[in-house]
Amino acid sequence: MRGLIRCAPVPPDEPIPVFLITASEGVHVGRLGRLRPQVGGDVLTGIHILLTLKCTSECDHCFLHCGPSREATFTIGQLRTLIRQIEELGTLNVVYFEGGEPFLFYPLLLEGVRMVRAAGFDVGIVTNGYWATSVEDGLHWLRPMRDLGVVDFSVSDDEFHRLDKNDRRAEFARQAAQQLGIPTATICIEPPSVSPQAAEGRRGKPVVGGSVLFRGRAAEKLTAGLPMRPREELTTCPHEDLLSPERVHVDAYGNVHLCQGLSMGNIWEKALFELVRGYDAQKHPIAGPLLRGGPIGLATEHGLAMNDSYVDECHLCYAARKLLLPRFPRYLAPIEAYGL
Ligand code: SF4
Repeated sequence: MRGLIRCAPVPPDEPIPVFLITASEGVHVGRLGRLRPQVGGDVLTGIHILLTLKCTSECDHCFLHCGPSREATFTIGQLRTLIRQIEELGTLNVVYFEGGEPFLFYPLLLEGVRMVRAAGFDVGIVTNGYWATSVEDGLHWLRPMRDLGVVDFSVSDDEFHRLDKNDRRAEFARQAAQQLGIPTATICIEPPSVSPQAAEGRRGKPVVGGSVLFRGRAAEKLTAGLPMRPREELTTCPHEDLLSPERVHVDAYGNVHLCQGLSMGNIWEKALFELVRGYDAQKHPIAGPLLRGGPIGLATEHGLAMNDSYVDECHLCYAARKLLLPRFPRYLAPIEAYGL
């Protein structure tokens, strides 16, 4: 049985002093409770840990420009600190490990999963499956993850990730996970294509198909030859809830990403709890203009000279943000997300 007794009124920014009564551990007195930290109107429920930016591949569609030459990787100590901050936040349900390719640092990944499970959160992993040279090998890599209770195992399996058409490693990884009873999903990104099908409100105009989003390397590598839209049309952020994000990504530099390369702040400078509680989207120099006027609003508010047309909102947003890098390095981070 548990019970909470509030002691006395406290300022809204302060932790709430409480008596915590548990059947097994008696009565504790102290600052054990805190206000539930909210981002805008919603509560942050998911964190994706970018365990490393290093990857076996350099996919054209990668939002973060990951690849073999990238170095940013969590240490065990940093992971421990982040997980402590996640516990302090008190609103999380699930923690994902991704990258880059998280299996490149297998002992670190394993220890991270163990720590997150010990803290009581669900764990998911995203991988390209490069390590599954056969189903049997895959079983050895994944058995410890199954034993720790991983609840979501997602494998990237598409033309961007395969070495060639005979590359079956993602399939082997998926089969191994299924044999172990780990809930498994496939992430399949289609190459961008032009379709004559009319889109809502844009009848008769070609639309871009596939699920590539034109951020990061995709904005630089995959936009050539695609139909463009006038920049005046790009007035909203269609994919991220910048006002009240329910999930964010955190990299080894400590950046808390609202969208890839767009940082709420840095957890090595200010604890996650404080960052989340203090986040005011309208005052953020990048998120604020995006909320008010979308990518074209971002460019206009900061007086940027942009091209007349872009493939989509993210394409313009990425181009504008790259121009703003020297002015807002704390909020447009890490620089790797801009191919630098
Ligand atoms: S418009 Fe900008 S902030 Fe919104 S999803 Fe696209 S790149 Fe991210």
